[in-house]
Amino acid sequence: MTDRAAMFQTLCEELGLGQRPQSIVGGELVDGVGAMITLQDPFSLSTLAVYADCAGAIANRACDCAETAQRTWIGDFTPAARGNVMQSVASAIEARTETLAKLEALVAGKPIRDCRIEVAKVVEMFRYYAGWADKLHGEVIPVPSGHLNYTLREAIGVVFQITPWNAPIFTAGWQIAPAIACGNGVVIKPSELTPVTTIALVRLAEEAGLPKGLVNVLAGLGPTAGAAAIAHKAVGKVVFVGSPATGRRVAEAAGAALKPVVLELGGKSANIVFDDANLQHAALGAQAAIFSSAGQSCVAGSRLLVHKDIHSRLVDMIASGMNDITLGDPLDDATEIGPISNARQYEFVGAMIADARQGGATVRTRSTRPQSGFFVPPTVLDGLSHQAKAAQTEIFGPVVTAIPFANEAEAIEIANSTEFGLAGAVWTSDVGRAHRVSQAVRAGTFWINSYKAIHVSSPFGGSRESGFGRSSGTDALMEYTSPKSIWLDSGEIPKIAFGYVS
Ligand code: NAD
Repeated sequence: MTDRAAMFQTLCEELGLGQRPQSIVGGELVDGVGAMITLQDPFSLSTLAVYADCAGAIANRACDCAETAQRTWIGDFTPAARGNVMQSVASAIEARTETLAKLEALVAGKPIRDCRIEVAKVVEMFRYYAGWADKLHGEVIPVPSGHLNYTLREAIGVVFQITPWNAPIFTAGWQIAPAIACGNGVVIKPSELTPVTTIALVRLAEEAGLPKGLVNVLAGLGPTAGAAAIAHKAVGKVVFVGSPATGRRVAEAAGAALKPVVLELGGKSANIVFDDANLQHAALGAQAAIFSSAGQSCVAGSRLLVHKDIHSRLVDMIASGMNDITLGDPLDDATEIGPISNARQYEFVGAMIADARQGGATVRTRSTRPQSGFFVPPTVLDGLSHQAKAAQTEIFGPVVTAIPFANEAEAIEIANSTEFGLAGAVWTSDVGRAHRVSQAVRAGTFWINSYKAIHVSSPFGGSRESGFGRSSGTDALMEYTSPKSIWLDSGEIPKIAFGYVS
């Protein structure tokens, strides 16, 4: 066994997990029975663990357990008690920050400094939504008929959540916390490539008092678990975070079962720099926007739109800054960029760069990179049309396409020229222009002289190929509940009409 595999086992043991990923069904760790799946360390390339895909029968049991536990969650716990349990969950996660961060860094290849921040964000999410558990109220509607009409916000029941590999524990907390605060049961299927921190999160939550079976984890491949859980009668909604291609398949399956979906999909976000911007700030912001997390972020600023008068100067600044970024072992505190998270993505990013080079791009990249691991060095593609494949496709790697523009109208037109609508940014010292551009660019989140600022209290989501529905903030509470309208006839003599009461 390699040192890294031994470390994997030790970290799993510390978190009360088995030596390989297992599903959690009704509070029990359960081995899969299907095809074998290998977890590969993207830095050392050694095998960390091998485990079996969970079968449809396990997914069905998980949905049954969530349905039963959800009744207890809303029947036996007051809203305030649900909030208290969630506060305890937050503290339990916080106490294990270092172990969770190490496990995430090892398996996902994400720098440990980023993993610590993401675990802290999960703690914040549980605390934020714990506070909402006893504040979910409906409205009194002033209907003209003399009735008292009010609404309740009811839990959906069981929600099925599917998450990707690029920010595993962050995404799990992001979706589990609002779902249970609203009184739902959950079945969550993390990516088969990075399931362990989600399993650990749920294990810790159960130890902290979350009723067993309220949140169940399916460790395995998408199609197996997906087909069973989406069709299960207890599941009332599907929340998918991942690529547009899979999102479309999930939405089709949910549509066939007449179930609503939230889709948090990919992006190709425009980061627009005007010639009146503070270029030092814009250059640093542009690097952070695309190179952090090795570009494996849905909101990555992967299209850098630069005013033509400062285009080559800004590209030079970004290219020379690439040499100051520390690439290395994700477990090393100094590492700013780790490897690409898995072999399939590594090959895809390499192929996109090769394709852009063949298509005439000037490729600016740093000369050195670590010897082992799926490393793609920070890369700028210059000299391509904004309609080129590399400028339109989500590469999901540390690769930015630099595109010149002549004026504000052209910048907006280019920014809106993809099928995505997730995020974007503008760098300018003209406050009027900052707001005009923010409003004109199609995006669910937009930053002015900043990039990647997010918070659990602020809504997040996209349109078109970036999906629909919203996560975070009070919008997530709306997604995880549905309104019920209740009518009471308050007249001395009830108005019982043959037909509608007016
Ligand atoms: P992916 O679509 O390949 O996989 C996402 C999840 O879907 C995984 O858990 C996978 O096992 C599962 N899956 C695959 N086939 C399925 C099926 N038939 N039925 C049900 N589930 C199935 O995405 P990925 O490669 O893991 O992640 C990268 C993508 O995620 C990028 O496009 C990125 O932009 C997107 N993403 C979006 C957000 C957001 O909030 N908008 C956040 C993070 C990542």
